[in-house]
Amino acid sequence: MRALARLDELYAIGATRAGYSPEEDAAHELADRWMREAGLEVGRDEVGNLFGRRGAARVWSGSHLDTVRNGGRFDGALGVVAAIEAADRIRAAELAVVAFRAEESGPMGSRRLTELPDAFVEVHIEQGPVLESLNRPLGIVTAVAGQARGAVTFEGRASHAGTTPIAERADALVEAAKFVLHVRECARDRALATVGALEIEPGAMNVVPERVTASVDARAPTAESLDALVEAIGFEPTWRQDPVAMSGPPLEALQAVLADAPELVSGAGHDAMVLAAAGVPTAMLFVRSLNGGASHCPEELSSAEDIAVAVDALTETLGRLSPSATAGV
Ligand SMILES: [Zn+2]
Repeated sequence: MRALARLDELYAIGATRAGYSPEEDAAHELADRWMREAGLEVGRDEVGNLFGRRGAARVWSGSHLDTVRNGGRFDGALGVVAAIEAADRIRAAELAVVAFRAEESGPMGSRRLTELPDAFVEVHIEQGPVLESLNRPLGIVTAVAGQARGAVTFEGRASHAGTTPIAERADALVEAAKFVLHVRECARDRALATVGALEIEPGAMNVVPERVTASVDARAPTAESLDALVEAIGFEPTWRQDPVAMSGPPLEALQAVLADAPELVSGAGHDAMVLAAAGVPTAMLFVRSLNGGASHCPEELSSAEDIAVAVDALTETLGRLSPSATAGV
């Protein structure tokens, strides 16, 4: 299968293709050639995003070709390769395939577009275990989760671990431990909440903890549910990013093509999030991650069969969205 062979060819450049590195450049050169072979007219914008256009090209599909350090062969690359395959199959459709620069370190390329399309569709490996656990090859992303981060501090009283009776202690870490469980309880429906870091003072084995600071990472699919989650947890966010909804004709087309596909919220950011936030009607198709959702590592995996159905679905979706150059009416 050609898409898989191309993913191998990109991976052979290197498992590390940082944004604007010679390795990312080489990946763009390969995609440039494949775009031409698919009958697309190739060009680049000022920041180096690569476009393969046909006709008016108001409908775009693509992703990125850079990787994290020692990344996998599917993250980003799959979306570019799949879009080229689709463009090759529907040769009359006016569309563009795009390879954005430096998604992993920004995103940088998709944030600096000087022109926006009327519609954008991105195919991406799920990078998580949900589709694998549902035993389904494809999922439709309905939103990229919003996120709030902050910290909560618990104050106690430092005392001797060997002489202070349990009943007389003010143990900040015991309070923090209850909070960790509380945070977990608050993450209902499609919300997620995590305490990933604890700072314990004085942090000695034989001293009852005096002060503990617990980090909080809260994510939810809508602004309202994020507000509710923050309120339920009871913390003051120091950083917040609103959720971004997939919408409009691209989402409707994808839902029509894959009528019974599960719908997911992406917990990670993507180029699609950037375009949707800029007001472009956007859709995103997730392809099942094998190996338990391993991501940003060489174990990242999607099967040939799943990629084949993803390319079929993308082709049909773009066919519905893109005017045909030969329609002639
Ligand atoms: Zn990616």
